[in-house]
Amino acid sequence: MRAFTYQRAATPAAAAEAFVRTPGARFIAGGTNLLDLMKLEIETPSHLIDVNGLGFNQIEATPDGGLRIGALVSNTDLAADARVRQDYGVLSRALLAGASGQLRNKATTAGNLLQRTRCPYFYDTNQPCNKRVPGTGCSAIGGVNRQHAVIGSSSACIATHPSDMAVAMRVLDATVETVRANGTARRIPIADFHRLPGDTPHLDTVLEPGELITSVTLPRPLGGVHIYRKVRDRASYAFALVSVAAVIQKDGTGRIAVGGVAHKPWRVEAAEARLPQGARATLETLLAGAKPTEENAFKVTLVERTLGAVLAAAKKG
Ligand code: SF4
Repeated sequence: MRAFTYQRAATPAAAAEAFVRTPGARFIAGGTNLLDLMKLEIETPSHLIDVNGLGFNQIEATPDGGLRIGALVSNTDLAADARVRQDYGVLSRALLAGASGQLRNKATTAGNLLQRTRCPYFYDTNQPCNKRVPGTGCSAIGGVNRQHAVIGSSSACIATHPSDMAVAMRVLDATVETVRANGTARRIPIADFHRLPGDTPHLDTVLEPGELITSVTLPRPLGGVHIYRKVRDRASYAFALVSVAAVIQKDGTGRIAVGGVAHKPWRVEAAEARLPQGARATLETLLAGAKPTEENAFKVTLVERTLGAVLAAAKKG
């Protein structure tokens, strides 16, 4: 690990000021991904600004009947919150499907959104990787890519986003609230928060340098049956091959988002109009234009079958 300096920030303004003043600075909260990346020297910040003291650790009702989740709320506390369990069950289930108990105790809401891909070549500094070092190439294309994206990828990167929580937040139409380094606030719909790789796969999100997530808001509850189904190589502590987050109403209409297939949580609203026609019809629109590799073509079938199982479970209520 490279040497770095460290400070605790007491206010968002102090955190921003430290970021602007120190080239190579990074914010740190739970650190469950960043510390691993630093040990491997994939991330080499010169200075860490600890934001754990900023107070963004509350879950509170919003005036319009939704919920505001502080950026520092742990994954454990968010999954266990009675309001989340009651009204946003898909989110609670997605959180509990992710990582391990110990990691969920440390991982934060903002950090979960910002975690980086688990593409093995990204973590192997002996291999070319456009996400780690722009312009060096993509080892996964033509390499081992069973876990990789089947849609939304590019000739520069075929990585997937690893978060379960983000898939549920996408289906709930969450909004990410931030404060920029200059002190101005902004609200980013989760649909626009994560980027597709294009020719800039090193950029995972639309956040600007020094922009800090302060909270994530959920709109008022949708009702319906909430399901998060994750298919993976082992029963726990594994990333999704595919996952489906769903909120299905009694009449068979609803919303779905899929994880493990793209560089961001994958949701196609036009596909949701086909939900009452069943999984195969929905899949036609959901994964239209998919370009799987030879190794991961099974994911297309797996999404259809997982979605079929979700719709059958939703019928039972
Ligand atoms: Fe790097 Fe993306 Fe290629 Fe993986 S898929 S090696 S993260 S460029």
